[in-house]
Amino acid sequence: MGKYEILALENPLLDIQAVGDQALLDKYGLKPNDAILAEEKHMGIYEDLINRKADFNAGGAAQNTARGAQYILPEDSVVFVGCVGKDKYADLLVEANKKVGLHTVYRVDEEQPTGRCGVVITGHDRSMCTDLAAANCYKVEHLKENWDLVKQAKLYFVGGYHLTVSVPAIMALAEEAAKENKIFMLSLSAPFIPQFFKDQLDQTAPYWDYVVGNETEARSYAASHDLNTEDIPTIARHLAQLPKANSQRKRTVIITQGTDPTVVAVQDEDKVHEFPVHAIDKSEIADTTGAGDAFAGGFVAGVAKGESLKTCVDMGQWLAHLSIKELGPAYPFPKQTY
Ligand code: ADP
Ligand code: MG
Ligand code: MG
Repeated sequence: MGKYEILALENPLLDIQAVGDQALLDKYGLKPNDAILAEEKHMGIYEDLINRKADFNAGGAAQNTARGAQYILPEDSVVFVGCVGKDKYADLLVEANKKVGLHTVYRVDEEQPTGRCGVVITGHDRSMCTDLAAANCYKVEHLKENWDLVKQAKLYFVGGYHLTVSVPAIMALAEEAAKENKIFMLSLSAPFIPQFFKDQLDQTAPYWDYVVGNETEARSYAASHDLNTEDIPTIARHLAQLPKANSQRKRTVIITQGTDPTVVAVQDEDKVHEFPVHAIDKSEIADTTGAGDAFAGGFVAGVAKGESLKTCVDMGQWLAHLSIKELGPAYPFPKQTY
């Protein structure tokens, strides 16, 4: 592995997570299992969660993935870029990332505070409400200033949530990957991305060497693109066959479905693979927040190491399991090895 072989881009967020109830969900019009961007009417939720003895965790989907990949890989393998504010929350994020050895190169916004993600836990469900704040101020110029890191990396991982922030930054990585035959991987992140940021998402599609998402995101994609199907293998095969910019790499589509098998489709292959999830005892589940992010972290670490598809999926599931046993999107210490 070379130094900073993986470069990840998305929104660095602080998770403010507490156990809630139906009344709290109703107060802000939230679904039990969803991820949305906060509007003015949602801004009280962070105070409400803090009043319910919230935990503060380093979050941001792709930042969780980047920490996960670094957790597995040799020192100095992963660098994460995004935008934070000039505050103690940003220091908390840097600390949490340092703990697993994840290197951060943040743009620091002078005006906006670090972004927050309110996480309302009700039973096994979690509803996320994100106030992007500084995370929304990422600029492609910051990427250009750090182009040596872009050049150094061989794999770019972009969280789909960033499609609401800086499409130019995403496209700069996508085009660089195609030009240099490097790997470009995107996560679908949340159902609202294919639904409300369809054009932005579609602009990146030709560049996907890998695209990863869960079953609700895949179905949201199918609905917004009029595929007239909810069948996950069919959707995965459709995504695999979309036009591709770099013909030197075949596209791989990975759809996780919680405890149901992980579905993988590869461009030009008829067979869609299904990898069963290793059962985990209910008593061992602390919190499934970030299971998909952790899966992506394990998977991307496998890709960076040049492992087989089967091993990459297994590494993803292994890391997802470790993360589920922790509170918040975190990984256990002392470090476990795959
Ligand atoms: P997301 O967190 O994006 O909704 P999933 O729920 O599909 O993603 O979870 C991603 C992966 O995490 C699954 O493929 C599986 O390996 C693992 N996982 C999630 N929930 C469980 C669970 N309850 N038991 C065992 N594995 C799980
Ligand atoms: Mg899920
Ligand atoms: Mg997810």
